[in-house]
Amino acid sequence: TQRTTDVVVIGAGAAGMMCAATAGARGRSVVLIDHATRLAEKIRISGGGRCNFTNLDVRPECYLSRNPHYCKSALARYTQHDFLKLMARHGLSWHEKTLGQLFCDQGSGAVIDLLKAEVDEGGATWRMGTSVTAVRRLDDGFEVTTPGETWHCASLVIASGGLSIPQIGATGFGYELARQFGLEIVPTAPALVPFTFQPEDLREELAGVAVDDSIVATGRTQFREATLFTHRGASGPAMLQISSYWQPGQPVVIDLLPERTLDELLADANRDALLANVLADALPKRLAQAIVAGLGDNKPLKQYSAKALRSLEDSLKRWQVVPSGTVGYKKAEVTRGGVDTAGLDSRSMMARTVPGLFFIGEVVDVTGWLGGYNFQWAWSSGFAAGSAA
Ligand code: FAD
Repeated sequence: TQRTTDVVVIGAGAAGMMCAATAGARGRSVVLIDHATRLAEKIRISGGGRCNFTNLDVRPECYLSRNPHYCKSALARYTQHDFLKLMARHGLSWHEKTLGQLFCDQGSGAVIDLLKAEVDEGGATWRMGTSVTAVRRLDDGFEVTTPGETWHCASLVIASGGLSIPQIGATGFGYELARQFGLEIVPTAPALVPFTFQPEDLREELAGVAVDDSIVATGRTQFREATLFTHRGASGPAMLQISSYWQPGQPVVIDLLPERTLDELLADANRDALLANVLADALPKRLAQAIVAGLGDNKPLKQYSAKALRSLEDSLKRWQVVPSGTVGYKKAEVTRGGVDTAGLDSRSMMARTVPGLFFIGEVVDVTGWLGGYNFQWAWSSGFAAGSAA
C-alpha cells in the first residue's frame, strides 16, 4: 500500500519517541517504525530498571564527539529541566543517587509510558515489529519501504541507536543508511564497557573486590569514582567512564588510594604490624593482601626498605595496566563514534547535503558519560529534530 505522511521516524527508542512527540505536537503527521515488538527495551533495562533519565549537571564537556561543540545547541534548547517538567506533568517523581544522576521513582516502565503517551498525544501512527527494507530519495522527500507499506514522506528521521546490546535489537541500520546518502561515519567502538585484562595482569583473587574511591586515568582524562575488579578485568563507574576514552594498546593508570599518600597512610601505623594489615585499614582486605603478595612475603612494616615502599606506592597509586580489550557490544552501555556531525546541522540535526534527512540519538557521533547523559542527548536531539522536521 502507498501512503503519505509528513515525517517517518525509524527507531522508536528514547530519541525517536521524543522526536515523534515533538513533531506531532507541531501538527505534523508522523509514522514511527521499529523492528522490535516490545517498545523501548533499552529504556526498560536502563539504570538497573530505574532509568537514570538525566543528570542535574549537563555540560557539553560530558560528551565525546569529533566536534565537541556539536551537542551544545540542542542541549541548550531542551535541557534536563525541560525533561523534569515533562516528568512532573505526568506525575512522575525522581531522586538523585550520586553525582547529579536522576532516577525515576516509578521505574523505567513509567518513563516509557510517559513517552508513549506523548507520542499518542501528537497523533503519531505506530508501526512496531516492522522492518525497513529500502529507503529511496525522491525529488520531494523520501520513500520508505516496509514489507506491507510504502511511505512517502518529506522528512525522514533516523533514530535507530547504536550497536550495543544486539540481543535486544541493536543494528547498524543507521550507519548503513548514512553511508547510502554519502555521510561519513566516525569509527564505532563499544563504550561505557568493562575492560578485559591480559592474563598476567588478571588477579583472580581480586574478582568481586570493589574500591569505592579510585582515580582511573588514560592519557589526560581521569575519573574519580568506584572501581570493581571482575574475573575478566575491571568494571565499575570509573572504569566504564574511562573506557569511552581508551584506545587499544593504551595503558590505564589506577590510583587505589586517592585520598592519601602512602607516607600519610604509614605515618600513624604500628611499625610491628604486618603490612597487609596496615593497608587493610584503607583498602578492601583482599586488595591489600594481593598488593602485598605482589611485593613478596607479608612482613612487619618495619622490615620494608624505602625502596620496597616506593614500589608499594607504585602499585597502590600508579598501577598501570594495558587492558587486552573490552567485553564488547554485548555488555557496552553505548556505542561511541557514529554519524559524523560534520555532515549535520547542530540546530536541526539535519544532514547538510540531504535536506529532510535527520539523525538523532546514539547513532550520531555524540557519546555521553555514564550518569544520565546519554538519555539527555536522546531527549535534546530528538526535540531538535522534532522541532524542524
Ligand atoms: P535506542 O533507545 O537504542 O532506540 C533505538 C531503536 O531503534 C530501538 O527501539 C531499536 O529496536 C530500533 N532499531 C534498531 N535498528 C532498527 C532497524 N533496522 N529497523 C527498525 N528499528 C530499528 N543511558 C542513560 O542516560 N542512563 C541510563 O541509566 C542508561 N542505562 C543503560 C543501561 C543499559 C544496559 C544500556 C545498554 C544502555 C543504557 N543507557 C543509559 C544508554 C541509553 O539507553 C541509550 O544511549 C539510549 O537509549 C539511546 O537512545 P536512542 O533513541 O538513540 O536509541
